[in-house]
Amino acid sequence: MNLRTTEHLIGGRWTPATTTDQIVVRSPHDGHVLDRVALANTADIDRAVGVARSAFDQGDWPRMPASERAALVGRLAQRYGSSLEEMAQLISSENGSPISFSRLGQAGAVPLLFTGFLDAAGAMAWEEPVETMFGTQLLRRQAVGVVGAITAWNVPQILIVAKLAPALLAGCSIVVKASPDAPLDALLLAEMVHEVGFPSGVVSIVVGGAAAGRALVDHAGVDKVAFTGSSAVGREIASVCGRNLTRCSVELGGKSAAIILDDADLDRTVAGLRFASFMNNGQACAAQTRVLAPRSRYDDVVEALVASVSTFVVGDPLDDATEIGPLVNERQRDRVEEYLRIGVGEGAVVAIGGPAATRPADGPATTGCYVAPTVFAEVDNAMRVAQEEIFGPVVAVIPYDGDADAARLANQSVYGLGGSIWTADQDRAAALARRLRTGMIGVNQFGPSTDMPFGGFKASGIGREYGAHGLAEYVELTTIHGLKADRIQASSRPTP
Ligand code: NAD
Repeated sequence: MNLRTTEHLIGGRWTPATTTDQIVVRSPHDGHVLDRVALANTADIDRAVGVARSAFDQGDWPRMPASERAALVGRLAQRYGSSLEEMAQLISSENGSPISFSRLGQAGAVPLLFTGFLDAAGAMAWEEPVETMFGTQLLRRQAVGVVGAITAWNVPQILIVAKLAPALLAGCSIVVKASPDAPLDALLLAEMVHEVGFPSGVVSIVVGGAAAGRALVDHAGVDKVAFTGSSAVGREIASVCGRNLTRCSVELGGKSAAIILDDADLDRTVAGLRFASFMNNGQACAAQTRVLAPRSRYDDVVEALVASVSTFVVGDPLDDATEIGPLVNERQRDRVEEYLRIGVGEGAVVAIGGPAATRPADGPATTGCYVAPTVFAEVDNAMRVAQEEIFGPVVAVIPYDGDADAARLANQSVYGLGGSIWTADQDRAAALARRLRTGMIGVNQFGPSTDMPFGGFKASGIGREYGAHGLAEYVELTTIHGLKADRIQASSRPTP
């Protein structure tokens, strides 16, 4: 499909950009120019929020039956399903995600997200009578208002749809500011939204940088900000929202621990970590980048990990065989390389990969933003490579003594997003999982469900996405008391 790279989708209409500012979109594989995309500025954001505000305050969208909104969102889900391969190809070409992952874990996950949200909206009691200590009252759920959504580039469609779908189902209007590092997939989604035809003003999708993001966050017309990105930017956004008392949810970084217990089947474990630790080239917020290994089996764990990592197929993200592609851009590659040097400087031992091996000497990965998949051994949990989010194919293996020590180390992090436990003993896994201060824990696997709450503790953010809990983030509660019981019954219906 031809993407409208010189326009923004504002309130459902394709609108020429107000300036000639552009993003040059380059392939992270070989640097060739894929496209040029209009960059939204603060005036574009202002226009988008203006029409969203009118649509919310005066339009039908928040007031129509929830089932009618669900029908339109359902049509968008259907339309989406017919372009999965095109979407997967676009994502891989612009952010370097291996095409096998883009098919499964990027574009392929979006229909599941839609289903989770549609089911949650269908089950939502938008108004319900509640027996209280002061008699029967009415609990009403209504849209939070105009939403400003700001997203990262690593799983760009998941991040947008996890905000767009619940916002629309709840009756919000929404302005999405997509990442300048993954603009093309956002434009394809905008094309689908345009085709489905939401009421005027309800949906805007623009691509912009930090300035556009700041304008959206601080805009007086925005009732809720939904952000996914780094903890540093999340902190800034949450503080602006705090000052303005704008509702906000922030989904941020992670440094999740994979805890290998002493009874684990190592072959199965390292096979599982190929995904859990290295998914999306390690550019995943919930990647298990701290591997906690029992001291009694530490050398075996490192050896098994090295053997596994040495077989990764590194190369062109659009090649079906590729398991590790390039990082998204040079800035990200430089950042990861810097962490490889930091690790060595701190005394971590390069078991495979590392700063010397980065930028492979031959093969398809000689050009582009490649970093050799790396395992650091002899890592102390206090080291920067164990505490800071690297966002690349780099794991740190940390020894521990006993399950209590493993839990202590796993929790010794400013983050608390994901985690996994690898063991033959389900009871030990259950007991350990209950000690972890983190949002999502897999046992002998890692793959959160698209209808269970996704999000984390501490610096990993505030709020949850996906399914019923994700939908609740776009809902405000009103209690109405003093109504006669027959009126409460009369107005209690599943749609507002
Ligand atoms: P980032 O914080 O640099 O940027 C995220 C978005 O915020 C982009 O759209 C960017 O243009 C915008 N932005 C930048 N500065 C802003 C500001 N001051 N005000 C408003 N908007 C601003 O993050 P990134 O590099 O795009 O993404 C990587 C980060 O995202 C990692 O830390 C990763 O862990 C995190 N992430 C978290 C989740 C999750 O669900 N918890 C999922 C994916 C990615």
